This record gives sequence, structure tokens and C-alpha cells, in this order.
Amino acid sequence: MYLKKLHLRSFRNYVDRQVEFTAKKTILVGNNAQGKSNLLEAVELLATLKSHRTSRDRELVLDTATASQIEAIVERTHSTNELSIIFRKQGRRTVAVNRENLRRQLDFLGVLNAVQFSSLDLDLVRGAPETRRNWLDGLLIQLEPVYSNILQQYNQVLRQRNALLKKIRAVRQDDPNGSIDSFEPQLRLWDEQLAAAGSRVTRRRARVVARLDPIARRWHQKISGETELLEVKYLPNVEWTEDEPSKVQRAFLTRIEERRIAEQYQGKTVVGTHRDELEFAINETPARHYGSQGQQRTLVLALKLAELKLIEEVIGEPPLLLLDDVLAELDPNRQKQLLEVIGDRFQTIITTTHINSFNQNWIKDSQILKVQAGT
Ligand code: ATP
Ligand code: MG
Repeated sequence: MYLKKLHLRSFRNYVDRQVEFTAKKTILVGNNAQGKSNLLEAVELLATLKSHRTSRDRELVLDTATASQIEAIVERTHSTNELSIIFRKQGRRTVAVNRENLRRQLDFLGVLNAVQFSSLDLDLVRGAPETRRNWLDGLLIQLEPVYSNILQQYNQVLRQRNALLKKIRAVRQDDPNGSIDSFEPQLRLWDEQLAAAGSRVTRRRARVVARLDPIARRWHQKISGETELLEVKYLPNVEWTEDEPSKVQRAFLTRIEERRIAEQYQGKTVVGTHRDELEFAINETPARHYGSQGQQRTLVLALKLAELKLIEEVIGEPPLLLLDDVLAELDPNRQKQLLEVIGDRFQTIITTTHINSFNQNWIKDSQILKVQAGT
């Protein structure tokens, strides 16, 4: 797939700027804080409707404006589509494909696919479990856009169930012997809903990890030189064995029953996929506790390359590759691996502060854009 045009209006520090991508490789050169990452963020939003830098739309709007718009033209093997997203400082987004506003965000997803490599990726290894869950969810959304709805439903159930558990806790705090019978039917209802929504989430997460694991392992061996064995493990909060909806739901309900008192005491849902963990083990040691920075970088690179390959495999077209300042962080061997993989197949947008850090072949093939204060 090919991102042909991008038009940013009042987006971050861009007032009004159109970019036409005329080569398969684009290098964005500029000093710090000029708008290189902002441009990549716009592409990431077109692909996932999410930014890994913020979850607040108002941050995406130029500080002197009230709304911003990203427009793009994307060519795929069998179609060309126009995409548009409007973000507002107040109020909801508007998403459109081919100038038709869409009611469901999920219908927007899947036109453009992209994988971003950035220095924040190290958080995948070092950061909180939430970072890893978000990464996995982002991948799932690109592979299977309907997952964005599944996740949304789960979060809705979770919010409402938490609200009820909070009420129950308040009653208990007022009077430890007080009756909470009147809440029972409602709570049971939310148990069922949590089990239903949770089973949809956990089954998909398990499946995608099962596909990702062997690909990541191969990359990791290639980059690290065969001596280290990577394993990507999905550690669901509710364990289950048979991939069948009713059985997974039953596992949820059993676990909920076991944690009933704890949930009412804490006033929140402690059972469910919002507590899942993803573990990266190298030679059976969790990588989080693994000392070397270099090893963590190798791991992250392997994970991201696996993501790239998996999307390409499932979608049937190479996704866009967004590289934010990462080459500078890699040693020559890893740099070489990465550039080799990219080859000529992926449309690549890459940012740098120093054009000299690129090899001449790359520069020769690339469209080079200078980014300065949002222009
Ligand atoms: P670096 O090389 O340091 O990564 P960069 O070129 O990638 O720099 P960006 O992150 O793209 O920099 O842009 C940062 C600039 O955008 C900052 O000057 C920031 O103040 C500005 N900026 C961010 N959000 C907004 C906004 N909503 N309105 C106006 N300016 C913004
Ligand atoms: Mg940047």
C-alpha cells in the first residue's frame, strides 16, 4: 500500500501543509521540536485512530485552533481511498472514507496499515503491563478491525461493573453488616457481561500471540546470533485451556466467584483482561529483569519486525513503516538488519536530525523533506 498524499490542517504545530510522497522512502530531516514526529503521528492515527503519544484529542489540535484535520490519499493494489479525520478540542471526532462520514470508527480502520518504530518502544520491555497490552491491542485492531469494538464493549462493561462495585463498597463501609442483597441481581448481570466480553478479548489476544511468537523468535535469533531463545508468552489474568467461548466464559465466572469478596472490598473489578500480561522471556528469563540495554533493544526490534511481518502476512500487502529517530539508537549490525528487512518493499518514512547518519544508497533513493516549525 502507498500513502500518496497527506494534508494536515491545524494539526499539532502544522497550520496548513500538504505533502506528496514521491518516492518509496521519505526522509524527514530537521532539528528538534520542528514537527517530524508530529507528521508520523498523523500517519499512525490514519492507520489505527490511536496515537501512542496521547489519548486526548485536544492535544492534537494546533493551540490557536479549535479543530484539526488529517486528510490522506492511500493507494492499495485494488483501490484508492481518501481518508479524513477531524479532531476537536471539544466534542467527538469525525472520520470519513471517500468523503462519507462514518458512524462507526471501525469502518475507517483497515484502509491504511502502518507499523511505527520509535524510541518509546523500549517501554514495551521496561514499562508497565498496560504498555504491552496496548501494543498487542493495537496490532489486533490492524489485523482485525472489529476488535476495536470488542475492546470498547469490554471497557464499557468494566466501567459499569466498577461503578457498581464502588457502590457496594460504600454500603459496606457505612455498615459492615449491612445487606447488599439488593445489588446482587445487577452484579450477576455484570458478571455475565464481563465474562462474555472478556472471553472475546482473551481468545483473540491468545491467538495473535501464538502467531507472533514464532516470527519474533526467528527475528530475535537472526539479530542476536542464534545464541538466545526468545519466547513471547501471553499470561491471561483468567486462565483457560480450550478455545471455546462457553468454556472460556465459565473460567471467567469461576474466577469472579473466587474473587468475589476481594472485589467488593476493593470496590473494583480485579478479574479480567484489563489485568492480562504479556511476557518476553529470553532463555527462560523474563526480559524485564534482563540487564543489558543492547539486549532489550534487540528484543524490541525483533518484536516490531514480527509485528510488521504478521500484518503483511494477514493483510496481504506490506504496511507502511514509520521510523522515528531509531536508526541513531541502533548499532551498525542492527541498523543493517533493519535496513535489509525494509529493502524496497515497504513504503518508509523515517525521521532524523542528521542526514549524514544515512548511508548513501538510502539517500540516493529517497525523497528528502526538510521540516522546520511545522512547514
Ligand atoms: P525531535 O527531533 O525532538 O523528536 P520533532 O521534530 O519530532 O523533534 P515534534 O514532536 O514533531 O518534534 O514536534 C514538537 C513540536 O510541536 C513542539 O515544538 C511542540 O510544542 C509542538 N506542538 C505539539 N503539539 C502542539 C499543538 N497542539 N499546537 C501547537 N504546537 C504543538
Ligand atoms: Mg521527534
